[in-house]
Amino acid sequence: MYYTSLEYFQKKYDSCERKYAFCAATKEEHQIWRKAAALKLQEISGIDRCLKTDAKAECIKTENSDGRKKEYWIMQTEPDVWMPFYRLYKEEIENRKRPVLLFPHGHGGGKETTVDTAFAKEMADAGWYILCPDERGSGERREFPQQAENEEMRRGNSHRELLQLAIGFGQSVIGLAVWDLMRLIDLAESWEDVDSERIACAGMSGGGQQTLWLAAIDERVKAAITSGYFYGMRDSLVSLPQNCACNFVPHIWETMDMGDMGAMIAPRGLFIESGEKDPLEGARGLENVYPQVMTAKRAFALYGKADRLIHSVHDGGHEWRGNGMREFLERM
Ligand SMILES: [Zn+2]
Repeated sequence: MYYTSLEYFQKKYDSCERKYAFCAATKEEHQIWRKAAALKLQEISGIDRCLKTDAKAECIKTENSDGRKKEYWIMQTEPDVWMPFYRLYKEEIENRKRPVLLFPHGHGGGKETTVDTAFAKEMADAGWYILCPDERGSGERREFPQQAENEEMRRGNSHRELLQLAIGFGQSVIGLAVWDLMRLIDLAESWEDVDSERIACAGMSGGGQQTLWLAAIDERVKAAITSGYFYGMRDSLVSLPQNCACNFVPHIWETMDMGDMGAMIAPRGLFIESGEKDPLEGARGLENVYPQVMTAKRAFALYGKADRLIHSVHDGGHEWRGNGMREFLERM
């Protein structure tokens, strides 16, 4: 016999109100709600507890890879917190400003898992700067219990350790990750050849999570692609509490659902990719995805910009397919 608490928490979730659920009826109401909701997300995730510091950044080495430049950078995002990242680009772009694509990785490794992909190379060849950071707790940012260079450890992360360190300050892993991405945007905007009106972010799984949170909070992101991370929290995170610690944020169940975060991105661009058989969507699969997409859609409709929200469904599982993403980014 087991006497567990899961059912209790599910019921509690069902009976509580989400105070920042999207319910605006006009563009003006949407703007007011979006601002308040962004502040609330920064508060509960502890982004507002992060510490500003000099954006010291340095390119450490450059390699040529198949006609592209692949630069290895290191930057300070908080006092004593350093983030390595790659900047991938094609050199011979004549005097025009470049768009920027932040490409945060998910679980299963660090920045190498995004910078070396076909998508990163394709977008670099199309004239973009591709920025691929190590997320806190992954890659070269693993804490001491995970610091070994065998394959299993390289694919692991310190999200549980970081959550346990952060939570006592009211902070969270996603809050730290989003803060770092915001500082990376600061840095990118300081480069003279960057078009700061064309900053995008894309990611799969944990990278999709970072993208969704970042774009919801920071309006400098003009187009967002989330793959494998857009579904109702009740069936996914609340009912799958074995999911990684980075998914859990104080008070999030009482604040909003993922569809509301999608609504915060309107009228900028949002591309959602879902797999029919993705187990992280929960037991009801896509039935747990569509209502969230509908919530976000209502916000885009207020602006008459329904075409800026794309939902692409494939027949696979928890995986990135990428169909239509490049066209979406170029259109945005
Ligand atoms: Zn995680």
